[in-house]
Amino acid sequence: MSDNPSPVLIVGSMALDSVRTPTGEVQDALGGAADYSSVAASFYSPVQLVGVVGDDFPQEHLDFLASRNIDLGGVQKIAGGKTFRWAGYYDFDLNIAHTLDTQLNVFADFKPSLPEVYKQAQYVFLANIDPELQLQVLSQVKNPKLTVMDTMNFWIEGKRDALLKVLRHVDIAFMNDAEARQLTGKLSVVKAARALQALGPKTVIIKKGEHGALLFSGDDHFAAPSYPLEDIADPTGAGDSFAGGFIGYVAQQGSTKIDVLRKAVVYGSVMASFNVEDFSLNRMRTLSHADIAARYRQFRDISFFEALDEAIA
Ligand code: AMP
Repeated sequence: MSDNPSPVLIVGSMALDSVRTPTGEVQDALGGAADYSSVAASFYSPVQLVGVVGDDFPQEHLDFLASRNIDLGGVQKIAGGKTFRWAGYYDFDLNIAHTLDTQLNVFADFKPSLPEVYKQAQYVFLANIDPELQLQVLSQVKNPKLTVMDTMNFWIEGKRDALLKVLRHVDIAFMNDAEARQLTGKLSVVKAARALQALGPKTVIIKKGEHGALLFSGDDHFAAPSYPLEDIADPTGAGDSFAGGFIGYVAQQGSTKIDVLRKAVVYGSVMASFNVEDFSLNRMRTLSHADIAARYRQFRDISFFEALDEAIA
């Protein structure tokens, strides 16, 4: 493990979310793919955040992000502008987010310009946002060691060509199972992952919500379970927390070897499992490294099994 982990550069939505689930609801709460993933990554590595908010974005949210060792030098605050807003709800199938409203607001005119020091970033996470913005950020980073992207149905439907271009330029793509099927037209998740690999990224990670995650890297394949939580408050941000935990851990280790990537999938799953215990980023506010360590051990326990019994094979 590196004593002085490289920062992770993250670009993506910074949002005010209004969310309803079977257990409750929030209005204009802190959300956004970049916020969830930055906070999750910050438990492992420092973060350099690129994004934009309006002057309606509460200062307390910026203070919270800064308190987590997240550099806000790449965040623009637009006077008179309105922050990106997403509204959605979940029924009893918590794997399916139903979007009610997406307001790009200040993201519609955003031109990301990276501070000089961000251009040296080794680890880059292009969190969910317009793929054209993802490309603009990627083109400014000089010599990254690992580039990772995520997206969602909104961009698969609206900006397919730009998204395919992002895929050609990244090392790892995250997608949930429905998005992978939608983008590739393949029903089988395994075939969809292979088809995504053929579009560019050597490694593809398919998130299956409360059913765990699959890693496809070259010919290697790894399946991580999800944590069997008794109470889920709000699945929003699970995918982003997963991705943030994943890349934060990889940057902390300073290695992209397959055994590190496999463990990173488990750390990502740990972060996602905590995130869904409360609305918005609230669970992250009290989360400790001891909590993370305890849940990592539980993940290992629930997925361990003995070697093949040769006598009956
Ligand atoms: P997830 O991890 O997939 O649950 O992501 C949830 C977050 O995605 C929410 O906090 C939203 O603010 C954000 N979001 C929703 N729609 C979009 C979009 N079209 N582009 C970028 N971010 C979005």
